[in-house]
Parts: sequence; structure tokens; C-alpha cells
Amino acid sequence: MTEPMSDAHLRERAAKVIPGGMYGHLNAAIFAPGFPQFFVRGEGCRQWDADGREYVDLMCSWGPIILGHRHPGVEAAVAAQQAAGDCLNGPGPVMVDLAELMVDTIPSADWVMFSKNGTDATTQALMVARAATGRTKVLVAHGAYHGADPWCTPSLAGTTPNERADLIEYPYNDLAGAEAAAAQADGDVAAIIVTPFKHDSFEDQELADPAFARGVRALADRIGAALVIDDVRAGFRLDLRGSWEPFGVRPDLTAWSKAMANGYAIAAVTGTDALRGPAQTLYSTGSFWFSAVAMAAAKTTIETLRDTGGLALMEQAGTRLREGLAAQAASHGFVVNQTGPVQIPWLSFEGDTTLEKAMYWSSACLEEGVYLHPWHNWFLSAAHTPADIDRALAGTDAAFARLHAKYGSD
Ligand code: PMP
Repeated sequence: MTEPMSDAHLRERAAKVIPGGMYGHLNAAIFAPGFPQFFVRGEGCRQWDADGREYVDLMCSWGPIILGHRHPGVEAAVAAQQAAGDCLNGPGPVMVDLAELMVDTIPSADWVMFSKNGTDATTQALMVARAATGRTKVLVAHGAYHGADPWCTPSLAGTTPNERADLIEYPYNDLAGAEAAAAQADGDVAAIIVTPFKHDSFEDQELADPAFARGVRALADRIGAALVIDDVRAGFRLDLRGSWEPFGVRPDLTAWSKAMANGYAIAAVTGTDALRGPAQTLYSTGSFWFSAVAMAAAKTTIETLRDTGGLALMEQAGTRLREGLAAQAASHGFVVNQTGPVQIPWLSFEGDTTLEKAMYWSSACLEEGVYLHPWHNWFLSAAHTPADIDRALAGTDAAFARLHAKYGSD
């Protein structure tokens, strides 16, 4: 007998064989009511859930999709590599091509090491910093997300205090706070890790103060620690050269992943010549880290972004969305905060500390065919055309109207 396929039925089966039915950042149970758990298809900037409902996708799979789902150029590169082999006894020539491309594209990169997920890359970057300095402590911004390994996962379940003992927190955008954190470590700082802007969940986003960016660079130099930029979330959306390049701030090490290969599994650490030797001393590897398909996807993704003005397209889409949402919120009588870069936007409702309005509005958007998130930033892609943004705005407008019918104006 063929099982009927619906989100509800899949959840029922999943509840028996998967802890909690689903776990981690894609667990729909922790979003807003009505969010589907299972998806069956993506094309351009649209996704279809297991019930066959179509959405304009404003999450881009939480970042990885940057050229649009099933981008023809990326899929062709993937198919060609797949036909030749993916997981072989050694990497394919494409590993060297991709490393050369990244070194040519990213001014702070003299070398590249590949892995699979953002957590691999942030962890590996800290290992390089520790190997280079022989030191232990790492300065991290309070509340920043750097992955889900025991040293950084936001939930302490399954971790030991020892695994967190070498972190010292500083407040984002607070240079004096970072200096105080460094002073606490008494000369034992291996690295300062920082995201290019503050994108913590449940909070309005905050762009980096250029003086803070320059200040942490100078602080790292002064204390002989490595400056690590965690560009896993923002990388390739703000500036192909690295997200702090516009500030003239170059890191010693950068962690990359998410958008690097338009949805294929790959991550990377890039670093400077001074850290090449220490990087070489690590034993850091994985069964699937050298698979050629994801590398072929990454090479085509980065080249396509570079050659087709992909970042400008994302910025235009983001600006159109931000302006449209601002006008709609005002016309329906809501005070909203739109924060972060327009390509990685978020909208919150002023004073909505319980997220009641955000939850109601995002559920309504979903019903109107727009997939966005109540408490995590969204992502745009180069596949979002003005017509797609207008389609999304038609849904958000209807959702504002429903929110107004329920709560009245602010
Ligand atoms: N760093 C940042 C800034 C991230 O946003 C993420 C993922 N959300 C990670 C690290 C971890 O990446 P992954 O989930 O691929 O391990």
C-alpha cells in the first residue's frame, strides 16, 4: 500500500523514528503555528512543501541558496562532476581550481582548507589559531552563533563545562568590552572570533560599527591573537571579497559555508600566509570533506555571482522588499523595525516582546504564500526578481491586513 504523503502524515511517521520528529534549526515546531516541516521541491526563489503548497522563499534554506534553487549553471557543473565521480580516493582537480578561485577573490586569503558545515569551519579556524599561538582562550561576542559543536552550541545539553571553559565573552560592537575580555585572559588569547554584523536570533540585527571592526583588528594585533571572521551566514551576500573588506579590515582567518555552493555541502577556512604553517600541522579531516561535486558547485556558484552581478541583484531585491514592507507597515498602522543588510533582512514589531505579532504575521504570510521567519533573519537570492518581490509583497500586505484586523493599529 502506498502511504499518503502529507506534512501531517510525515510528521506522524517521523515522531516514531526521529527524536522529537525533527531537531535543530529546521525544526518547524519552534517557528510559528502552521509552518510546514517537510519540503519536496525548490525552483528559483520558490519552494513547495509536502502538501503541495507553493511559497515565495524568503529564507533560501536559511542561507545556502544564493542563486536560486536548481540554478541551471550550478546543476550542470554538478551533473558533470557527478558523472565522473564524487567521493574518490583523493580530491578531484576541482579542489585546486576552487582554492585558486577563492585566493584570487578574497584578499585576506592565501590558502584554503575545505570541510562540510559552518561549524567545521569555525572550529577549524580556532584550531589553526591555537596551533599558531600555543594559547587557549577565545574571545566571542555574547549571544553570537558560531555553530553546534560542544564549544559553541546554544544549548548546554550534552556538553561539559570544560568544553566551554576557554571562551571569554565580550559585547558586540563594544571595543572597550572586547579589550576588557582580553585583559581577563592574561595574555592567553589565541583568537578573537566575530561575525560581520550582529545577527543573533530574537533580536533586531545590528550592523558593525566600522570603528569596532578596526578596533578589534588592532586589538588582535596588539595581543598577538588571530582575528577570525565568522562569515558563515553573511559570506558571499555582502561582498565577495569578505564582509569586512569594505571597512578595510582584513581577518587572519575566515570561516565560510552556507551560500558558497548554492545548497551543496561545503565549508572553508581561508587564512593568511603567516598561518599557513600552523594550518598544515592540524589533523583535521572528514570522510566527505573532499567530495568533488560540492567543490564543482562552489566553483560555479562563486564564478556566477562574480560574473553576473549577483550581489547587486540581491541588494536590489532586498531594497525593494524593505521599501515595500515599510510602506505597508505604515499604511496598516504598525511600527516595525527592519534591520540588518537588505540582503539578509529581518522585520520585528515595535514592543512585541512576546513575539505575538511576529508569530501571527509570519503564519499569515505563510498562508498568503510567503515563507519568512518570525525570529530569525531572512535571506534573499539573486533569483528574486522584482516580480517575485512584488508577489511576496502582495502576501505580506494581506498578512498585515489580517494582523490589523486582529490587533488594531499600534
Ligand atoms: N556561524 C554562523 C554565523 C552561522 O550562522 C552558522 C549557521 N547558522 C554557523 C556558524 C554554523 O554553520 P553550520 O550550521 O553549517 O554548521
